[in-house]
Amino acid sequence: MALVTLKQLVDDAFQNGYAVGAFNVVNMEIMQGALQAAEENKSPLILAVAETHLGLLDLEQYAPILLREAERASVPVAVHLDHGQTFGNFVKALRCGFTSVMFDGSTLPFEENAAKTKEIVRMAHAVGVSVEAELGHVTGGEGDPSPGVADPTLFTDPEEAQQFVQATGIDALAVAVGSVHGVYKGKPELDIPRLARIRELAGVPLVLHGGSGLSDEDFRQAIANGIAKINVYTDLSQAAMAKIRTAQGMPENTDFGKFMLEVIATIKEAVAEKMRIFGSVGKAK
Ligand SMILES: [Zn+2]
Repeated sequence: MALVTLKQLVDDAFQNGYAVGAFNVVNMEIMQGALQAAEENKSPLILAVAETHLGLLDLEQYAPILLREAERASVPVAVHLDHGQTFGNFVKALRCGFTSVMFDGSTLPFEENAAKTKEIVRMAHAVGVSVEAELGHVTGGEGDPSPGVADPTLFTDPEEAQQFVQATGIDALAVAVGSVHGVYKGKPELDIPRLARIRELAGVPLVLHGGSGLSDEDFRQAIANGIAKINVYTDLSQAAMAKIRTAQGMPENTDFGKFMLEVIATIKEAVAEKMRIFGSVGKAK
């Protein structure tokens, strides 16, 4: 099928009550597992590269592979820069052919976040690339193993969300409603009434970052109230590492490449499970 924009994917998801998973592809194994899961389940897919993961991969080396794989996939795939904060990385992502970027100004004051987001929107929309931004702040880092809890004082304000969307022209809005990046300490509680109000006022597809620890029912409720994109990394990292840890004691002559096939299969199953929970199975158009 094809390389598509984030907007194409999340608009359909938002209108039809499902969410598209955005998986942080820190290496080829996660990319392959995610693509295989998407094709087998006829699900749309977002391959995301987080700016914080650029120590693990070289954007310009990796981008042509992601884009080529997206183009030849049998399902629609967007290639997305996750949590971009550096101007140079936006330009690189646009130059490489990414179809979506996220600007994360969530730690900035409202006016500054809106002004910088608007600048990125102007640049990205000029070349047909979608933009996600964040208002309120989802704490923690991608794959962070030290458990954290959500801070309600940083939750997204629905009225501000409306102003932010109108001022910036973004295609999707990441919200802080009770999840954290990385592992959640205890049981997260999503503020669903707040989410419903944000959806009503903002009117654009909403994005949930930090889904670890949420139940299937939490995801179902979040999606029913406007979440159309869900970022996933920690759960994939943990599934892959569990596979590697339990394989200890394997014969000394184990082939690295062949063993990685097993890791890819584990990642594929973890991605497919998310696709079933998010309701994106069979939604590839
Ligand atoms: Zn995030």
